[in-house]
Amino acid sequence: MATKSDVLDFIRIYADKMAEHRQELTDYDQAIGDGDHGINMSRGFKAVIEKLPAVYEKNIDEILKTVGMILVSTVGGASGPLYGSAFMKAGAAVKGKGELSNEDIILAFDEAVGGIQFRGKAVEGEKTILDSMIPAIKAIKASIADGKSMAEALVDGEKAAWDGVEYTKTIIATKGRASYLGERSIGHQDPGATSMAYVFQAAKEVAEKVGC
Ligand code: ADP
Ligand code: MG
Repeated sequence: MATKSDVLDFIRIYADKMAEHRQELTDYDQAIGDGDHGINMSRGFKAVIEKLPAVYEKNIDEILKTVGMILVSTVGGASGPLYGSAFMKAGAAVKGKGELSNEDIILAFDEAVGGIQFRGKAVEGEKTILDSMIPAIKAIKASIADGKSMAEALVDGEKAAWDGVEYTKTIIATKGRASYLGERSIGHQDPGATSMAYVFQAAKEVAEKVGC
């Protein structure tokens, strides 16, 4: 079960991670893109943190939707609309919920994937955000089905996400800016898959803290 305060905690922790890993994400994007992924993500989440107090009193769905709208309006790169639609779809998935059950959390993740795919038309294996996100969600579902807690499932989810990040080093980018490089994108890890792995790391940290 996740409360509104857990969701706000998650957003704050993730925003801190985006500030902390700004240079790292930018370096990965420098190798296969235009070197702005860390700048984009940290700028977007800095705006989220600045504007978040205005929605503290709202429900979880409205908070997530607002995060998405802020990302869309403050991030110029591809990642703004992609992460933005992920948060908006996650919000819509949990409309009216005061607390999130494990099923709600999984549904929100699934809908977030749907939002990214609707926007970006990518599938797994194209060296994108999805290559850490989809395996992570699969691992979470499998662990919950095995009777594990959400905190345990998120440990498995984060591990699967980082395995997915490793996998992006072995494949050619066929979507986004990195696709211009073709074969030369091999050997480099995808910046977006990396920033997404931090989503699962942040969620795991919250779940461990509250023991859910
Ligand atoms: P831009 O490519 O516009 O500079 P960013 O550098 O912020 O934007 O984000 C790049 C990341 O966006 C890539 O590493 C990749 O993971 C992700 N990405 C690009 N296109 C897509 C897509 N169609 N679907 C999913 N993720 C994508
Ligand atoms: Mg870029």
